[in-house]
Amino acid sequence: MIHIVGAGLAGSEAAWQLASRGHEVLLTEMRPRWTTPAHTTDQAAEMVCSNSFKSDDPASATGILKAEMKRMDSLILHCAEATRVPAGNSLAVDRNAFSELVTRTLKGHPGIRWQEAQVTELDLSSQTILATGPLTSEPLAAWLASTTGCGQLHFYDAIAPIVERDSIDMDIAWMAARYDKGGPDFINCPLDKTQYERFLDALIAAERVPLHEVDTPYFEACLPIEVMADRGRETLRHGPMKPVGLDDPRTGRWPHAVVQLRQDTLAGEHFNLVGFQTRLKWGAQREVFNLIPGLAQAEYARFGSIHRNTYIQAPSILNATLNVKSTPQLWVAGQLSGVEGYLESAAGGLAAAFAVDRAARGLAPLPFPPETVLGSLLHYLANASAKDFGPTNAMLGLLPPLPEGEVDVRGLKRAGGLRAVKVAKGEAHRKRALAALESFLGT
Ligand code: FAD
Repeated sequence: MIHIVGAGLAGSEAAWQLASRGHEVLLTEMRPRWTTPAHTTDQAAEMVCSNSFKSDDPASATGILKAEMKRMDSLILHCAEATRVPAGNSLAVDRNAFSELVTRTLKGHPGIRWQEAQVTELDLSSQTILATGPLTSEPLAAWLASTTGCGQLHFYDAIAPIVERDSIDMDIAWMAARYDKGGPDFINCPLDKTQYERFLDALIAAERVPLHEVDTPYFEACLPIEVMADRGRETLRHGPMKPVGLDDPRTGRWPHAVVQLRQDTLAGEHFNLVGFQTRLKWGAQREVFNLIPGLAQAEYARFGSIHRNTYIQAPSILNATLNVKSTPQLWVAGQLSGVEGYLESAAGGLAAAFAVDRAARGLAPLPFPPETVLGSLLHYLANASAKDFGPTNAMLGLLPPLPEGEVDVRGLKRAGGLRAVKVAKGEAHRKRALAALESFLGT
């Protein structure tokens, strides 16, 4: 029997992968009896903030990672495809339908026994995958810190608000995707210069929820909107409020700034404010966000919030198969291992299941090739500098460089500019990654 703790993105994927390979799996999940500051349901693989598995662009890191996961029959990817909602060239899902489908699939599998319990320590009498995520309950986090001898690290992560579709003024907002890529799936709220400046003043002055641990940093890729605003008056216009590629049908031009909202449920009744994760107090959120043209009467299905996020110091603790070096019976997967993101966490669950399956069959450990996006993430966890280790998303920059001359950088730059170079490099990485995966799976 293999024990998996946590039925989140990583644990669900791992459980299904192992059960599909004929192993008996005990899946322990503490919700709903105990919960975390961000989860609200009793379902597996709950998406606590955005409803997106990021870009489907085949030449992007997440596009390649999805192709790798699909090749390995990922449950999370399969359920995401089955519950997808329109979101341009990204894979976004109806979060409830998605989690329900994952839960039904796991609970319906004869090889998986579901147990509701809060694990406070592990007996490690059988092979165990720890996948309790960034909000691992305190007693277990303390046990892990003392067992690995390394302590755990924390940073702050924030959630964006969700508004009801009917409360958005569509005489002001319009539906479109940036540069018309994909369908017209986003609701866009335009701001002129005066409106942007007024919004910014209100945002910077608004009351914030105090942080309990002032030394804990933010995750740079998911900064609260007000923290981005603190960094400069143009920061938002180059970040979540960038107007490029969005022609306002009323003027035929790009506005000064734009707030985008992405569909959150299949029925299309809820939309989340893209990139508007925040730790403003709830009353302040209503006051400030209602200044956005089109959102003056917005009703909130959920306000934004902020939470502490836990991860281990992977380079000191893990090897490239997610196995704890000091404790061969234990693997750590998902966000707790130091990857960041729903997709990356699910991919980590898949990799841990792969490693545990080999161990259970008495085979030697076999790390994924670093040329694959999944392999590059695991390689980063095992080999990054321990001193300033921080969690990472999937990125092409983590992959080994392409062979010299593989992409004609100068020629492409002349013909199509930097964009053409980026696309060609992404395509070359994809080709190499999928070939490396094929030969790895063949082994
Ligand atoms: P989780 O999905 O959190 O699963 C862990 C599971 O373990 C949970 O079900 C939990 O209840 C259970 N558990 C915890 N402790 C115990 C215990 N002691 N015993 C038994 N069960 C336990 N990523 C994105 O891609 N997009 C986002 O918008 C995004 N927003 C985020 C917002 C917040 C506030 C946080 C904290 C993270 C966010 N992330 C986001 C990051 C990350 O991708 C998700 O947290 C993702 O769910 C991580 O997957 P996981 O499987 O590692 O953990």
